[in-house]
Amino acid sequence: VGFYSGVLENQLIPLYYSLRGRSYARRRSFLEASQWWSRDRIREFQWAELQKLLAHVFTSVPFYQRKYAAAGLRLEDIRSLEDFSLLPPLTREEVNTHREELCSSAYTGRLLSHATGGSSGVPTRFYITPESYDWRSAASARAYSWSGCRVGERALYLWGAAIGKLPRGKAWKTAAYRWFRRELIFSTFQQSDELWAEILEATRRFRPDYIVGYVASLEQFGQYLRANNLQLPGIKGVVAAAEPVFEHTRELVRDAYRAPLFNTYGSREFMSIAAECDRHQGLHIHSENILLETERPAEEGPSEFRVTDLHNYGMPFVRYEIGDMGQLSHRVCACGRGLPLLENIEGRVLDALRTRDGRVVPGELFPHLMKDIVEVKEFQVEQKRLEEISVYVVLSAPLSEASSRTIGSEMAKAFGDGTTVAIHPVESIPKRASGKRRVTVGLPQPS
Ligand SMILES: [Zn+2]
Repeated sequence: VGFYSGVLENQLIPLYYSLRGRSYARRRSFLEASQWWSRDRIREFQWAELQKLLAHVFTSVPFYQRKYAAAGLRLEDIRSLEDFSLLPPLTREEVNTHREELCSSAYTGRLLSHATGGSSGVPTRFYITPESYDWRSAASARAYSWSGCRVGERALYLWGAAIGKLPRGKAWKTAAYRWFRRELIFSTFQQSDELWAEILEATRRFRPDYIVGYVASLEQFGQYLRANNLQLPGIKGVVAAAEPVFEHTRELVRDAYRAPLFNTYGSREFMSIAAECDRHQGLHIHSENILLETERPAEEGPSEFRVTDLHNYGMPFVRYEIGDMGQLSHRVCACGRGLPLLENIEGRVLDALRTRDGRVVPGELFPHLMKDIVEVKEFQVEQKRLEEISVYVVLSAPLSEASSRTIGSEMAKAFGDGTTVAIHPVESIPKRASGKRRVTVGLPQPS
């Protein structure tokens, strides 16, 4: 650990949070220790936290009280994880339709409002408590630390930018926060060789130890480096987020970045859910904060995830259908951590779209954009021809002037001139043969 990173992680950040009366530092040091507990001890802790949460949910969250009563289930009936799996899962649609009823009447503290564009094309708005935020930030910091990318290590991000313009005060605060943590962020929502050249140039000045990015962006930048026979200054690790990682991605990263790839899995509803350690034997789940179940046992192959957040007492998510699928592993990791492993993650493939001048627009742009459009209940973006993009939207209310303008201007920014973008309000978005919705549909691949 570098000197700056050590001071930041062990002194400045804990001090900052404790002055604000927050529990981040406590959670972070707890999670640092608990990852080394035995698998049984972690399981016991998780079950104890789950029982506390269920007592809270059964006594103070109107939506669950009604739903579980209708299913004929009482709190006393849930005596094991098998019993727990009898509780009907929570859907995205329910979160959007019953948001206030999903809030606990016993929780009187502050609620932070959040939104996600959703990997399944259903934007979701929800609340979390500051306490839950501290748990998840601590889990997230732990996940990054497994790759060596601790807070304060120099990291360059191939990421998304804020949609629209941030208010001045907020923009300044964000910039200060990034500078303090030594993070340099590039938006990769509009990709071109000029952007990659600019990023390469920045790595020479900024000398990052880590590169963090969307898988599609990491791949595009990697291909650029390889095609032009260019080399990055020494990188220690590459952290991949938001999309499935295939073997060819690892090979490309190893080859073009000359560094190992660390896969991570998370979502806006929960932040970090799981991440790889340096043994790369699967992704360790943050079981002290998250209970991740699959619809079917691991032996039967990948199936739908259900996620329970153990510490969001303001608006509890219990057995939430997050829209991703994968497989839990029974293997024990050679690193010695007792945290269970997730074998693989499937079902978050977002097609990239293309611009007329040959640039690539990653699929992540669209969930990122749509989370801020409050009238949109569900959406799909399809590129039928190079110069024609259709945005299908299921609306809860007619699109306001401002919302149409935001969609129009963000699309124009990404695709440039000569591409028409048509917004089509529809009754519903058809599911594909796989039963999954596709958020983006790119041009047919030339075979
Ligand atoms: Zn491990």
